Amino acid sequence: MEVPTITSGMSADCRPCALLEHLSDVTIVADVNGVIEYATPSVEQKFGYTQAQVIGKRFEDLVHPDHVTRAREFFAKLLTQPGANPSTELKFQHKDGETLFIENIGSNLLQDEKVGGVVINTRDVTENHRDKERLLFDAFHDTLTGLPNRALFHEHLAAALTRSRRHRKLDFAVLFIDLDRFKFVNDSLGHAAGDALLVEAAKRLTSCLRQGDTAARMGGDEFTVLVSDVKEPFEAIEVAKRIQKVFCAPFHLPGHDLVVTASIGIAIADESYSKSADLLRDADTAMYESKQNGKATHTVFHISMHENATLLMQTEADLRRAVERDEFFLLFQPIVEIRTGMISGFEALVRWRHPEKGIIVPKDFISLAEETGLIVPMTRRILNGAAMAVKQWQNLCGDSRLHVSVNISSKHFDSGDLPELVADVLNHAQLDPSHLQLEITESAMMSSIERATETLEMLKHMGVKLSLDDFGTGYSSLSYLHRFPLDFLKIDRSFVNRLGSAERKAGVLHNILTLAKTMEISTIAEGVETEEQASELTQLGCDFAQGYFYAKPLPPDRVTTLLTEFAAGARYPVMWSSILTGRSNLNRWDAFVPRGDGPHLIS
Ligand code: C2E
Ligand code: CA
Ligand code: CA
Repeated sequence: MEVPTITSGMSADCRPCALLEHLSDVTIVADVNGVIEYATPSVEQKFGYTQAQVIGKRFEDLVHPDHVTRAREFFAKLLTQPGANPSTELKFQHKDGETLFIENIGSNLLQDEKVGGVVINTRDVTENHRDKERLLFDAFHDTLTGLPNRALFHEHLAAALTRSRRHRKLDFAVLFIDLDRFKFVNDSLGHAAGDALLVEAAKRLTSCLRQGDTAARMGGDEFTVLVSDVKEPFEAIEVAKRIQKVFCAPFHLPGHDLVVTASIGIAIADESYSKSADLLRDADTAMYESKQNGKATHTVFHISMHENATLLMQTEADLRRAVERDEFFLLFQPIVEIRTGMISGFEALVRWRHPEKGIIVPKDFISLAEETGLIVPMTRRILNGAAMAVKQWQNLCGDSRLHVSVNISSKHFDSGDLPELVADVLNHAQLDPSHLQLEITESAMMSSIERATETLEMLKHMGVKLSLDDFGTGYSSLSYLHRFPLDFLKIDRSFVNRLGSAERKAGVLHNILTLAKTMEISTIAEGVETEEQASELTQLGCDFAQGYFYAKPLPPDRVTTLLTEFAAGARYPVMWSSILTGRSNLNRWDAFVPRGDGPHLIS
């Protein structure tokens, strides 16, 4: 063949030759055996070999070992179909080992006497390829953590299920992992901290995996792990334990070090599973069980959990109906001013009168009401009922200072319409705003600090009193007391019931009471059950008290009687002992309809 050469002082005939010499793509001419007779100089820049080095090699020698067969097929087509211009994409290998993706278009010019060879024009499409790969990667991975995403995890899981069914050996498990305080981090420390937490969590998760295991991010703060080669359930449990252990170390987030635990659910594959989605669902159910059991723990799925889930669904349907038919009623527990023994107000506590199951207490339905959002219409009714009742009692006993306290769930901060709702209620009942106290737990405030602060400021501005409930059970950070516009601090029962016993918490309590005083926040002790507790609280300077020692939560007609007797001069004494003698068996009393002779009143 005629080998084009570069000539200086280019003639018209030589122009194509010169162009070839300057191409950035590589053109190769080979003989019938595929032996390279000519390559453009660009071959050096593209594949790392000089022209001299490639001449005499075979075309397939430049091709990546994976694609040699494909290269041969391409070449065979070129030889057998002279008129055609076959094309193919082949992986090439650069001299330094890098893989290149090259598109090849061939022309059989063996019969052309000027060429007398097979011409292959190549074009580097590596960049395209990388873009495609990146797109494909992105489609199946979580951008933040780089872990496989839900779609890819499902694929892995389905493949594991098919494979193990084929081998009649189900030997894998699925872990469902949910971070316990993610929402708190995101809301209070911001999204950047939330993201940093997720990235670090993903890293720690990956560090617990064994070969063949897959971790994925399902979205939000939910992760999953496919644990392979599980011969005994305890092996999957071991992985869960390992994960919990690596989560024990504080997470170093921008500006904060924070301990974040994880709740884990485990589903072990067995013959009953035919769909990957079912395994995932069961791991999720078990994870939920871990959350219910106090978080930071792991639970292996058991079929009975389905029954619980069904029961929960039934309860949810019942609850919806209960809201429609208004099956709730209120009890009122007196709050006593310790110094004077006077009733300063009442805490409204809701009960559900279930048509079949009888009376249900809040712990068995409030969290469900919160999850389903039903708490919002419920609170409207509770607020209304409580405001109307206290207004009536103010009129009855001529004491316009009586107040009522209502418990508010964190859900109301999400909807943002609490101030409006409260304004409606006050207006409807013609109640002075200062006679309504809203009780909000620390965790509810913390669950969305920004919104909570905003809502609380608005309520405060309206003149409504705000009370921090269950103080001492949550984060209990005294520094938060400054952040919220509080009027009252309700000290949790767990502090109070240590009083008067050998193991004293009075030191802590004393500090809390002192601090509250300096901040002009009044204190209410909850769950006061004994005389000793009452007297110790008096000495410690607590302002108000509430508990079985004074009265259990009472139905409205009992409150009316009580108030009538107080109006006639009755008082809760600071010291009870003589009256209480022989009546300290609290369990004897009905929880919501106290007997007439209960020690809630002296006349
Ligand atoms: P909480 O706000 O801490 O209410 C005090 C709980 O302690 C009440 O339980 C009350 O009956 C009980 N209690 C009062 N004195 C004593 C005592 O001396 N000893 C003991 N052991 N317990 C005492 P209850 O009525 O079962 O309410 C439980 C929780 O349910 C409440 O805790 C509150 O968080 C929630 N809750 C009650 N009513 C409502 C409501 O209307 N709305 C919302 N969102 N939550 C409510
Ligand atoms: Ca409360
Ligand atoms: Ca409380």
